[in-house]
Amino acid sequence: MSFMETLIPPIRERRHPETSLAHGAARCGQGQKRATCAVMAQADRSFTQGSICPLLPALGIMTSLPETVVLMHGAVGCGSCANGNNVNIRAGHAARGRANQDAVWVSTSLNEINVINGGEEKLAAAILEVDSAYNPKVILTVSGCLPGVIGDDIDGVAAKTQDQVKAKILPVHCEGFKSRFMATAYDVVYHAVGRHLLPEKAAGPKDPLTVNVMNVGSMGLIDEKELARLLGELGLKANFFPVFANPDSFALATQARLSISVCPTHDDYFLNHLKEKYDVPFIIRHMPIGIKNTSQWLLDLGQELGLAKEAQALVKKEESELQVALEDFKAFFAGQTAFISAGEYRSLATALLLRELGFKILGIRSFHFDSFAEVELAKLDQGDDFIFNVANVQPFEEANLLKRLKPDIFLGHWHGNSTAARLGIPAQVIYNSGFAYIGYQGAYDLARRLYRRLKNPAFYRRLGQYAKLPYRPEWYEEDPFNHIREAQG
Ligand code: SF4
Repeated sequence: MSFMETLIPPIRERRHPETSLAHGAARCGQGQKRATCAVMAQADRSFTQGSICPLLPALGIMTSLPETVVLMHGAVGCGSCANGNNVNIRAGHAARGRANQDAVWVSTSLNEINVINGGEEKLAAAILEVDSAYNPKVILTVSGCLPGVIGDDIDGVAAKTQDQVKAKILPVHCEGFKSRFMATAYDVVYHAVGRHLLPEKAAGPKDPLTVNVMNVGSMGLIDEKELARLLGELGLKANFFPVFANPDSFALATQARLSISVCPTHDDYFLNHLKEKYDVPFIIRHMPIGIKNTSQWLLDLGQELGLAKEAQALVKKEESELQVALEDFKAFFAGQTAFISAGEYRSLATALLLRELGFKILGIRSFHFDSFAEVELAKLDQGDDFIFNVANVQPFEEANLLKRLKPDIFLGHWHGNSTAARLGIPAQVIYNSGFAYIGYQGAYDLARRLYRRLKNPAFYRRLGQYAKLPYRPEWYEEDPFNHIREAQG
């Protein structure tokens, strides 16, 4: 039976038990080759400073959908991260020609009495209220930890209330306590979309020119345009979804000739569903970040679609133009050192790009690790060794590592850059939906930004003199991985 036929999607740990090598902790030592650098299976920490709940990325996708309301069913704090992300939602809509559109989310705000008596009535009442107040096409009823613990049946409530509302109700199971793989977020959203927004059969005949390119939020519109440009050079059209896609448009994915992933960590659940149910084949191998990776991504696409020669010619032209444009940057970067912190695939693909630009990689901190990363790690075998830390956040480990390694530049997400910055290390945001990052344009754009950051690091040097991190000096004397424990049993 397909996973999609079940009400509740499996968590990543269960879906990929053979490959979920490390969630929470892992350690590789410098001076070891990857083959000898064992990532500890199911390891844990004796101390944890904080981690990312799957709700964060799930809400990032869900709140971007036009004509949709996210109805959080949980404690009032669940979903509050959507407020901080609203700037990206507004910017994403504005870039697509839809001005002044906010993320619309409301909460059932469960309290102690609801914990004892159950929250289903509250959810049913909220669905009716949201439908009449906002008149959306879709209401995503999202279960946080609390209803998961007390056993509220969000699917049952959706079924009972569906006839009373105009909107389509999509139950989403995103109870944070169930999985320590943040990537579970992508599966739970795709599960809801696959079950409720796709037709029983393909919406129409296959379109031989359309290729599905899935974007769960790791690309801004500028990156989508870069990939659309490259696909256009091969005579193909890109169908981007799910972020910022109208719920009515999801059915188009069933008619595509092919799907290609831009991030294997994100996409495999839905790609498999499109293949199994609608016979849309897929490629899931590379992330088009960096020169060689982008070229490989295009060559795979060309190979699959009988456009191998065209893809080779395109890659040759793009690479030669880019190498000329990068010459001065590469001379400047030669020998400079970098530390990267991000999601599994982005961190590894960025490491490859930085090596292409002349950097030496000292360390990579990846939010989790699974078998998809093997392809990228194998590519990194060819260069210098580096510390590889698998950590869902844990800034105390990162601070210790950075103090030892002293990289010239740190690349991380905006919420994580302050550790490096307060140590006086120039920090470059690794993802901002307004900046190009993907494809050949992204490689050039990142080089330009790194050049500017490194050319004048005075701001960070001064910040490092005056800003403090909250750790005692003794912590920096300890092994940064002292709190990592092998799984028992
Ligand atoms: S779903 Fe659970 S872990 Fe996530 S924010 Fe809500 S209570 Fe916290």
